[in-house]
Amino acid sequence: MPGFELFGELERKEVNDVLDNGVLMRYGFDGMRNGHWKAKELEAALQHTFQSKHVQLVSSGTAAVSVALASAGVGAGDEVIMPTFTFVASFEAIMMLGAIPVLVDIDDTLGLNPDAVEQAITPKTKAVMVVQMCGSMAHMDALQAVCNKHDLLLVEDACQAIGGTYKGKPLGSIGDLGCFSFDFVKTITCGEGGAVITNNKDYYLNADHYSDHGHDHIGNDRGAEKHPFIGYNFRISELHAAVGLAQVKRLPEFLEIQRRNLNILKEALADIPEVTFRTIPEGGEESGAFFNFFLPNLEIVNKVLKGFSDNGIDVCWNYYNNNWHYIKEWNHLKDLKSLFPISKEVKDGLAYLKTKDFSKSDNYISRNISCLIKLSWTEEQVKVRASKMAEVIKSALYKF
Ligand SMILES: *Cc1c(COP(=O)(O)O)cnc(C)c1O
Repeated sequence: MPGFELFGELERKEVNDVLDNGVLMRYGFDGMRNGHWKAKELEAALQHTFQSKHVQLVSSGTAAVSVALASAGVGAGDEVIMPTFTFVASFEAIMMLGAIPVLVDIDDTLGLNPDAVEQAITPKTKAVMVVQMCGSMAHMDALQAVCNKHDLLLVEDACQAIGGTYKGKPLGSIGDLGCFSFDFVKTITCGEGGAVITNNKDYYLNADHYSDHGHDHIGNDRGAEKHPFIGYNFRISELHAAVGLAQVKRLPEFLEIQRRNLNILKEALADIPEVTFRTIPEGGEESGAFFNFFLPNLEIVNKVLKGFSDNGIDVCWNYYNNNWHYIKEWNHLKDLKSLFPISKEVKDGLAYLKTKDFSKSDNYISRNISCLIKLSWTEEQVKVRASKMAEVIKSALYKF
């Protein structure tokens, strides 16, 4: 996945353009910038890549989720449904707005279970945030149907699935709003950065103003801009956007490598009956950022991971006891360890976390192995890795 593996001349050229004129700010300074508008150019490129009418760059993927929700009017006391398996950023972005994250089970797509979503809906529910984890997607038609039926926003966090598609549509472009991260380890990276995409002009204008102090961006005189509402600073810089601009031009090349590598790994394990792959919904195509599979139980998973590490197979994990990506170890959230006071409404709204049964999620996450797919691996290296992986798994399963 990490686009930084293949940094080259194109990234250097785009960054040098910015350094040569000295304008690091994405807005204004028209006279000084020699025609360089890297953030604007990147937004235009992403409109094309993600087939979306509007794109607003922001400072991170976490900011993208928060800005997306705020732009659609989600705020204090609203409930946002999200999955148990994601990155901590998901609940952070919701709580930043004074809203309440409602965690529900995943299914064997490793994404939100549509039935669990429907059961969690209350009169306070405003939005469903689906997280397209590890390069693939949840059952999007079913989730869309639940959202339509209950008149809820569908927000897509596609931070880990840049370039994946569902029924021909880029992931991120299916919901009312989509969110991307271009942080240091994502498929397209610019160091720190993110994007909100939407076809809704009002949401877009809200995101544009909100992410830059509420400035209305009307006219050429920055100082004369007015403030239709209160905003904050979630801007991207021209330097970051310059790196992203080079990387987005190379996305087709990155995706081809990722998918080639994924297919080699999948083929090598396909004939082991105890290995099952995550479900890819009908009409979906993975981005190839990760390879995910299930084994019969956690004990075998641990045995296999030990074997991988003994045999030099790196970048593979199980997320069950992981501090960053799974509800089980998020004690700071369960215990409401906030640096500053949070409202009683949010505290009460999160009390369920101490008692809710997430055994369905436990079942999938405990049996899962997730391997990062690198862009720098040669075809030959992936083949060697794939056959070693198959050997380790077979010996963990069949040798005692
Ligand atoms: C990386 C990531 C984020 C956060 O992105 P940052 O740019 O690091 O803030 C959010 N959600 C998911 C699923 C991610 O993988």
